[in-house]
Amino acid sequence: MLTGTRRLAINSFQSTKRQALSTQLTCKPAQVKPRFETVHKHQPALTQWNDEELSLKDAVSKFAQEYIAPHVRKMDQESKLDPSILPALFENGFMGIEVSSELGGADMTFTQACIVIEELAKVDPAVSVVCDVQNTLVNTILLTYGSDAIRKKYLPELSQKKVGCFCLSEWSSGTDAFALKTKAEQQGDYYILNGTKAWITNSGEAEIFLVMANVDFSKGYKGITTFLVEKSNPGVQVGKKEDKLGIRASSTCEVNFVDCKVHKDNIIGEIGKGYKIAISTLNEGRIGIAAQMLGLAQGAFDATMPYINQRVQFGQPVSQFQGMQFNYADLATQIEAARLLVYNAARLKDAGQPFVTEAAMAKLYASKVAEKVSSECINMLGGVGFTKEFPAEKYFRDCKIGQIYEGTNNIQLQTIAKNISALYGK
Ligand SMILES: Cc1cc2nc3c(=O)[nH]c(=O)nc-3n(C[C@H](O)[C@H](O)[C@H](O)COP(=O)(O)OP(=O)(O)OC[C@H]3O[C@@H](n4cnc5c(N)ncnc54)[C@H](O)[C@@H]3O)c2cc1C
Repeated sequence: MLTGTRRLAINSFQSTKRQALSTQLTCKPAQVKPRFETVHKHQPALTQWNDEELSLKDAVSKFAQEYIAPHVRKMDQESKLDPSILPALFENGFMGIEVSSELGGADMTFTQACIVIEELAKVDPAVSVVCDVQNTLVNTILLTYGSDAIRKKYLPELSQKKVGCFCLSEWSSGTDAFALKTKAEQQGDYYILNGTKAWITNSGEAEIFLVMANVDFSKGYKGITTFLVEKSNPGVQVGKKEDKLGIRASSTCEVNFVDCKVHKDNIIGEIGKGYKIAISTLNEGRIGIAAQMLGLAQGAFDATMPYINQRVQFGQPVSQFQGMQFNYADLATQIEAARLLVYNAARLKDAGQPFVTEAAMAKLYASKVAEKVSSECINMLGGVGFTKEFPAEKYFRDCKIGQIYEGTNNIQLQTIAKNISALYGK
């Protein structure tokens, strides 16, 4: 027998349930499309690598230890790349990862590009972004939208010797990128570019600039067009280099275009389609930044665990205190979750499946994990973690940018929200 109070509770639950059901019936039933599809019967785990991926991972890890690690501290202090870094990246095929071998590239997949970006970031997130921008933004734009002539001329150079950069942001248009003011006026077969781009990664070293400029402001963002401009063009002036909190070895400069004359053959894709090129490329590029943040988190963690296993307080290694154990267990779990998001998004992209929501989730989450892990690593290291003797403080400084470039975290949330709500009919 139910007591009076319990019966009342059940009655009220049932009436709430009835209310909810009737509300549901008055709404149009949600046509929720499945986000997950079965492609093969036995899918490998997301963190299972094929032989090619595994040997690439080992090779990049070895490369990063041998060629990058010895320079990391000095490059951070001096805010510049060691002169040996770029030639080494080119020689090893890391600057043309998805470019076909006929065009001088490494003929690999997007997932393999993410493996390279992650492994480099474990050692230096600044070097990692140099490689990331070259591959996931610059090369991708030429591979996807460049004419045959453009691809044949520039992709071999970008794969083997020339750095490129992606020029979208301006001082007055960061998140609101398509409010850009750089203009391109047609004069016969040429366009004359005038304007200033801000915070351009790789611009200190770049010889090839992909520039978003508006050919017709009366059309709003539909006037935005992508131009390929060479550094040798007298109208290109690389300006002030930013003095940054983190990823200091990667150059971030202002770039001015002053009466910069560009032939119409150097338009990438169609006139007025620059906004589409920028959106689709950034959607994909975000997975690269997520891979950078993942590598950063793993690198900070790997640099911390051996120390806390050896550091003795109260007669035992500090790693054996439960307060410490719960902390690093939680961090390791978050790193693993970020890895699953990153490689899921990358593999979706390679499989030609929709990936925009997953890419935004991967960047949002991996950048937060990078911040959490690098901060907690400093805490676990104690006093030494706060000094430059240990790399933790650098990872902590480097991680902040992951929540800003290629769309701030708010923009990732906006993208996720828009796509999720569309699944439910809104
Ligand atoms: C180191 C570095 C490297 C970079 N590299 C490049 C590069 O290679 N190429 C390039 O083109 N750009 C590059 N950028 C620019 C970068 O993409 C922008 O800084 C970024 O998009 C944010 O723009 P903003 O700085 O103008 O911030 P703002 O747009 O001014 O945003 C300020 C704050 O307002 C929030 N906000 C803005 N709009 C909204 C909204 N609608 N809803 C909710 N919140 C909002 C943002 O989330 C942020 O928190 C780089 C920046 C840095 C710092």
